[in-house]
Amino acid sequence: MAITVVVSGAKGRMGQEVVKAVNAAEGLELVGQVDAGDDLAATIAAVKPQVMVDFTVPEATMGNIRTALANKVVPIVGTTGISAADRDEIGGLCSANSTGCLIAPNFALGAVLMMRFAHDAAKYFPDAEVIEFHHEKKLDAPSGTATLTAEMIAEGRAGATPTELPAGAFEKVPGSRGGKAAGDVPVHSVRLAGFVASQMVIFGGPGQTLTIRHDSIDRASFMPGVVHAVRQVDRLAGSGELVYGLENLL
Ligand code: NAP
Repeated sequence: MAITVVVSGAKGRMGQEVVKAVNAAEGLELVGQVDAGDDLAATIAAVKPQVMVDFTVPEATMGNIRTALANKVVPIVGTTGISAADRDEIGGLCSANSTGCLIAPNFALGAVLMMRFAHDAAKYFPDAEVIEFHHEKKLDAPSGTATLTAEMIAEGRAGATPTELPAGAFEKVPGSRGGKAAGDVPVHSVRLAGFVASQMVIFGGPGQTLTIRHDSIDRASFMPGVVHAVRQVDRLAGSGELVYGLENLL
């Protein structure tokens, strides 16, 4: 039996790729596509999918996740900009509806490895900064990947403390030191035509730097991760748990 999938945000840049990937994947069946203005609840009622893959916009994704979970459809969510408070709510809905959900800020395997390597490096190099690069149409900043990377660096430090700026340090241009994400890791967000999604994590120590860099140069980079996640539906459905990060499903 094929795993049945509805794609939400199907007309978007990522959604179009997901539609192609689901159609091409053995054992997956695309049973519905929705975009802005469509009725997700009616589509779910009509086609009864097992999975909803959501690549939409931050304002839409929470409503879509609530609708999917209320109907015991497993949300596989790539939309970024979901806050920690939103994740708490989703975790509660998963439990209340006995249905699992995946939120993955980055479905590219290389990016998942970049974050894992950053986590491991942080114990030895607690001083780190993140520079992320995305196309000029990306709405949210910093990226979900940068946010999760900062969280993983903060955790990976395992008590090692970052160096404080010298007394009297100041910004001549506000924001020039970047935004402070988890663990006060500075994050710098570049938005320029030409990029798809790239990120550098730079670690500094006395007399040395270590740079870990990942580049998605085509949206195809995300599709094996999306297809893999859909194939984990049996693990997610009925689990009643929110899984945050693709690394937890590999
Ligand atoms: P996009 O091209 O703007 O696509 C978003 C699509 O969602 C648009 O077609 C939009 O329609 C539609 N939409 C808006 N409201 C909706 C609703 N209520 N229900 C269903 N569809 C709705 O953006 P994108 O580049 O594909 O990116 C989508 C999201 O994925 C972003 O949050 C981005 O950061 C994220 N992303 C994640 C990964 C990852 O690996 N996790 C990778 C790349 C991108 P309109 O244009 O008509 O509003």
